[in-house]
Amino acid sequence: MADQPLLLALDQGTSSSRAAVFDAKGDLVASATAPLPIQYPADGWVEQHPGDIWNSQRQALQDLHQQLDEEQRRAVVSCGITNQRETTVLWRRSSGSPCGPALVWQDGRTADICQAWKADGLESAWCQRTGLLLDPYFSASKIRWMLEHHPEAAAAAAQGDLCFGTVESWLLWNLTGGQRHGSDMSNASRTLLMDLEQRCWMDEFREQTGLPANALPELLPCRGEFGHIAAKLPFAGLPIQALLGDQQAATLGQLCLQPGEAKCTYGTGAFLVINTGDSIRRSSDGLLSTLGWTDASGTPTYCLEGSLFNAGTVVQWLRDGLQIIEQADEVNALAQSVPDSGGVMLVPAFTGWGTPHWDPQARGVLVGLTRDSNRGHIARAALEGIALSVATLVELAGEALGRGLGELAVDGGAAASDPLLQAQADSTGLTVRRPRNLESTARGIALFAGVQCGLIPDLSAIAAHRQDDVQRFEPQINTERRRLQRDRWNDAVNRSLGWHG
Ligand code: ADP
Repeated sequence: MADQPLLLALDQGTSSSRAAVFDAKGDLVASATAPLPIQYPADGWVEQHPGDIWNSQRQALQDLHQQLDEEQRRAVVSCGITNQRETTVLWRRSSGSPCGPALVWQDGRTADICQAWKADGLESAWCQRTGLLLDPYFSASKIRWMLEHHPEAAAAAAQGDLCFGTVESWLLWNLTGGQRHGSDMSNASRTLLMDLEQRCWMDEFREQTGLPANALPELLPCRGEFGHIAAKLPFAGLPIQALLGDQQAATLGQLCLQPGEAKCTYGTGAFLVINTGDSIRRSSDGLLSTLGWTDASGTPTYCLEGSLFNAGTVVQWLRDGLQIIEQADEVNALAQSVPDSGGVMLVPAFTGWGTPHWDPQARGVLVGLTRDSNRGHIARAALEGIALSVATLVELAGEALGRGLGELAVDGGAAASDPLLQAQADSTGLTVRRPRNLESTARGIALFAGVQCGLIPDLSAIAAHRQDDVQRFEPQINTERRRLQRDRWNDAVNRSLGWHG
């Protein structure tokens, strides 16, 4: 049915950019993907070019536009943007030119800045106000590093010509032809610059980064009227009506609308997000309190989150580093070529640990090798290492909420892996539920734009149908074996901590 209204989702991820159209029920109609290069200039450094980020998103948009017929193009009524979070971009307001590279969320080079802030006694108040931790993952220390090391950023700041933004902000700027410099509250809640309860920028902590107040984007609710796609771009004139960080969008896309409902997305990293409703839940175990989304008036829904920096990257490493597979999906047959990992464990701390250790000095560990270990065991250990890392997040979330999670909804590129999801069910003892369409992130932002433009009156009506087309993975090992595996895992993880420096 070509004339039914359609919703456009732009999903700017770490490894690629996607553009997709969905119908008002959240079913995918068409999509396009463009790759995004990434640079690792030194150990722990992870960069992308802001120009590449925009070009790959524009390419995906263009490819999608070409796929649609004239009638379908006309049927698209609203656009939403979702994105890799925390990644920090600085550019000149006058020209739109980037001032240096984008420092990607995985980048750990700013550990010393965070350490100095802690030594200055800032940690307790800063964490309390933001729900986060003083870690290189978040944007604040990346801003300070850029201003200290990229003279063009410092010069633009001194001339009052600097713009800071996370990726949704950079895309909004480019999509609107430089008309709008804004950041939504879900993305802003990941910068260390937004007060989580009051939902405003905080001057005292911004000053620690050296960023001038006039470089901050306008703080926006997660849905509203954010301008139109500029002339000369595909879908010119289309209103942009929703902005969300990718993990928050995936939570909506999985229709985790009720407090206690949880999803885990396995992309470049893995992120467990639990809806906590209108209350901010805090954890003393390294889970983050974060903003899920707001309505158009800014009324918030909060979430609790466990963040794992490396998940799909482990599969990429088997492909590009070890070169024991040629394509990501070959990891699965290789892992299934052996009955178990033969005692091998792979701790995926390539760029440090997020939840629960928050250790930027941690590095990966491959342990338990014997003369009999082969490629299959390493592939199996790689997938089990992702699952065991996530199992720790699940356990801590259960403790923070005072009850277990029930089922676990999963999505993201690496959730295509059956052995990964079986390992996830085994290591958590939970039923793991995989939807047919793994693109929950794009789906979530499309649905959210649909709510804003009035096409979708009520997301909970869609939630009623979410049991359709779901594949389930059930635990197949007993509690004793699970406990033994977990003990060995914790031992391996301890060996990864504090390795660098
Ligand atoms: P992001 O949004 O972070 O860019 P995606 O959700 O696109 O990530 O997932 C891409 C990741 O998933 C890559 O790291 C890739 O190695 C991994 N991946 C893709 N397909 C598979 C597969 N069939 N099995 C296991 N891992 C996969």
